Amino acid sequence: MAATTPFDLSKRVAFVTGGNGGIGLGMAKGLAAAGASVVIAGRNKAKAEAALSELKATGAAAEFVELDVLQEASCHQAIDRTAQKFGRLDILINNAGTSVRKPPEQLTAEEWHLVLNTNLTSAFFCSQAAYPHMKRGGGGKIINIGSMMSVFGASYASPYASSKGAIVQMAKSFAVAWAKDNIQVNSILPGWINTDLTKKAREQVEGLHDKVLARTPAQRWGEPGDFAGVAVFLAAPASDFITGAAIAVDGGYSVQA
Ligand code: NDP
Repeated sequence: MAATTPFDLSKRVAFVTGGNGGIGLGMAKGLAAAGASVVIAGRNKAKAEAALSELKATGAAAEFVELDVLQEASCHQAIDRTAQKFGRLDILINNAGTSVRKPPEQLTAEEWHLVLNTNLTSAFFCSQAAYPHMKRGGGGKIINIGSMMSVFGASYASPYASSKGAIVQMAKSFAVAWAKDNIQVNSILPGWINTDLTKKAREQVEGLHDKVLARTPAQRWGEPGDFAGVAVFLAAPASDFITGAAIAVDGGYSVQA
């Protein structure tokens, strides 16, 4: 019989919102390398095709499911379809996210709701949709993606910071509620990572690139691949007694005085 490690994800099924690019894809690759079947879910099909070929080239069992996290019905349909197809659902990563960068006094209600709904309410919808499948399977792992702005504020990112503070508190509350079902709910707090999201931020926020470099002890921006290991850890039996935690993956940004 093959030996298993505390990081073995074979026979596990994972669903990653926004897994078609950026940090989500970085985590999806990690889960697939640890043996999981991975469903990447999002809106952009061209990005998903490219992501799927990368995943499949490694021999991973990967699929794309269309998902608009702004729609509650879409979250339920995509997750139910995944559980039906693979016969189970073990891991949910609430990763989809967006930002509108403006000072608070210039934000419209529509912009506020777009960010809060994409980053926060989506995690509520998807977690609620995943719960019965995880409970039926005897347990599960939910991983919420926070941010340095779960901790710090930024003049240009009030809805983003509000959503990212709240998603960590949501994880703690769900962790307490669902511990009895052997479901662990944790958060990852990325530092500044090189993705489409921050490409736009670097265009919109003057001096951002250099400020981040100056403050990050690791002396570099993060890459999506930096999230493969932490995703595996929080999705695997290795973390079965860890719940409600928030782990910074930031090259030391948040501990720099
Ligand atoms: P990307 O822009 O590459 O990824 C965001 C993902 O969210 C996309 O794949 C996108 O899919 C998906 N998404 C957005 N809106 C929706 C929607 N309505 N329905 C379904 N999917 C949606 O950026 P990142 O990889 O950087 O971001 C991933 C997460 O990491 C986000 O939660 C972000 O806030 C967080 N984060 C990122 C940091 C960074 O420095 N990059 C720092 C801290 C946190 P699609 O293209 O199909 O719409």
